[in-house]
Amino acid sequence: MPPDSKDDNCWTFEGHCPICERATIFRADNAWFRDSLKCEHCGSIPRERALMRALDMFFPQWRELAIHESSPVFRGVSKKIREQCPGYVFTQFDEALPRGAVHPQLGWRNEDLAHQTFDSSLFDIVVTQDVFEHLFDPVAATHEIMRTLRSGGAHLFTVPIVRKNEPSRRRAWIVNDQTVHLLPAEYHGNPVSNLGALVTVDWGYDILRVLSATGNPHAMLYVDDIAQGIRAEYIEVIVGYRGPIENPLGSHHGTFNLA
Ligand SMILES: [Zn+2]
Repeated sequence: MPPDSKDDNCWTFEGHCPICERATIFRADNAWFRDSLKCEHCGSIPRERALMRALDMFFPQWRELAIHESSPVFRGVSKKIREQCPGYVFTQFDEALPRGAVHPQLGWRNEDLAHQTFDSSLFDIVVTQDVFEHLFDPVAATHEIMRTLRSGGAHLFTVPIVRKNEPSRRRAWIVNDQTVHLLPAEYHGNPVSNLGALVTVDWGYDILRVLSATGNPHAMLYVDDIAQGIRAEYIEVIVGYRGPIENPLGSHHGTFNLA
């Protein structure tokens, strides 16, 4: 579908936003829709709307569930879940603060995804958005996320798959508590640090194999639906199910059948 209008490098699409759930205009002021194609009402961006679609699709009762989100930025899907789901808890990680403590002003709990203080089988859903490219030990984080999920629960997350035709590549590693850079340091915005978040892994599609090797099957969803403002690079949503395999979709969903 062509844009409803395009002039001076500005694209607009009429549609319906899955996050604020209303008719809206999606507007981009540059061709990198991933960051620029915003809902004029809620300011959400395509990967947030893709995650919302996945959440609505696989867990339509999410408002009644226990959800943990790590490292949210309070707009888009995070803001919506926080406002509408009483069972939502959110965490950030600040190494300087005690683990498990709740920040007195900001309300987040301090948790290292790879070494969490949460009890086991506590959550139905864990959400992370563009976090897994910043973890030094994404496999340990996955083991921990799965430990905290109940049977039938899932980790829904976005992560940029930047290596379309090559295997994943590590950019940075920790050796004896020191960061070792294998490639020039690259940072993304970090809600709790002005330093930004170091990119530790450039992920390829083998992320599914790497994380499924924890015994928890992972599958990838690519949503493209410009009528809901979902079109951009790097908006894949990964769903990791707490093992043993239990496919909540049933066997009739051929392309997303995990069995
Ligand atoms: Zn919206």
